[in-house]
Amino acid sequence: MRPEAGQTERELAGAVRDWSAELAPRIADAERQGALPADVIHDLGELGVLGMGIPESDGGLGASTVVFALVLEELAAAWPSLAVGVSVNSGIVAGSIVRHGTREQRARLLPRLMDGSGLGAFALTEATSGSDAASLRATAHRDGDGWVLNGRKQFITNAKYAPFVITFARVGAAEEQRPHAGVTAFIVPTDAPGVSLGPSEQKMGLRASDTSALVLEDAQVGADAVLGEIGRGFGIALAGLDGGRIGIAAQSIGIARAVIERAIAYARERRQFGTPIVEFEAIRFSLARARTDLDAARMLALRAAWLRDRGCPFTREASMAKLFASETAQRVTYQALQVFGGYGYMREYEVERYARDARATTLYEGTSEVQRMVIARSLVAA
Ligand SMILES: Cc1cc2nc3c(=O)[nH]c(=O)nc-3n(C[C@H](O)[C@H](O)[C@H](O)COP(=O)(O)OP(=O)(O)OC[C@H]3O[C@@H](n4cnc5c(N)ncnc54)[C@H](O)[C@@H]3O)c2cc1C
Repeated sequence: MRPEAGQTERELAGAVRDWSAELAPRIADAERQGALPADVIHDLGELGVLGMGIPESDGGLGASTVVFALVLEELAAAWPSLAVGVSVNSGIVAGSIVRHGTREQRARLLPRLMDGSGLGAFALTEATSGSDAASLRATAHRDGDGWVLNGRKQFITNAKYAPFVITFARVGAAEEQRPHAGVTAFIVPTDAPGVSLGPSEQKMGLRASDTSALVLEDAQVGADAVLGEIGRGFGIALAGLDGGRIGIAAQSIGIARAVIERAIAYARERRQFGTPIVEFEAIRFSLARARTDLDAARMLALRAAWLRDRGCPFTREASMAKLFASETAQRVTYQALQVFGGYGYMREYEVERYARDARATTLYEGTSEVQRMVIARSLVAA
């Protein structure tokens, strides 16, 4: 049951489920090669999925956050590496430009996030600033009409597919009492002079999702590269992460759902001691717990999405959803793997891949510890 989702929302998610089911035969190869196929990204553009949250007046589908969550669940159930790429492109990147872009920036940039030619990226993290993102060291100086940026952004999802990257750099000196002082959001085209990418990271999971460094060496961007106001970039990053966390919660939910479905099917088939293992209470209780956690995670994610759609505060609820759903995905993938016994440990079976993919969900867009900090801060401040 998905009480926050109406008929139309479920239909859209159903269409994405049917489309993504066709991808299954291609996933293992793409994961081995470490890249999302260009035609898959192109098809997502054609389907309107890449612009789902972009208002109709800007050329998108104008779908609600609830739809965004349901669609991402479907994509992640099929292929988590694809889901995280779409979550970043269509959630945090498109959302930041819709909220903070000028009319000219929206007209120039949003089509590139929707047309299926690539996927946008968001660069906050650096080698010395992860959870403590405000302590970033990348700098931006005025140069004539434009800007010159220097620094190195770490672990950037979609970097190799991105036409541009929302990049956070500091204008002016850091201030001890105001660590976020001067942080500004810039739109950095990946083909701008002085911009290069590091090699793709070799990851535990999500191997078809690109994660690379963005290197800025006297990178030159125009005056029109500033997103929002100078010195207000940290607020843009935090607001983007609030929405992005709903996407990561949905990704986690899709992963958990996929492995539970597979574990149930396997437990029905696999026989030991003369009976299908699904008859053993240990297996049944494990599945019952997993499914309960999955439903709870989905309810939390849809609540956060529902609040966001109504313009209500949702920071705490998005953190709760991301925290619970990502930890559920980790636990449930290991439970499912246990149901598969030794076969679950083998590459041939997909639960192994889902378990590796799930591991990242408690790390990016704020670790579980950071989510607990956000939730606790909101409780104490209330
Ligand atoms: C696959 C992948 C994709 C990513 N994609 C992007 C991207 O597209 N853009 C981007 O900007 N970044 C991206 N990241 C980076 C990600 O957001 C960071 O890795 C994350 O924020 C954690 O930062 P860190 O790795 O530096 O860990 P650290 O901040 O060094 O944390 C290390 C440990 O200390 C804990 N910790 C830190 N501070 C506290 C505290 N105050 N209290 C309690 N515990 C604390 C953390 O929870 C963690 O367990 C990605 C990361 C991964 C793994």
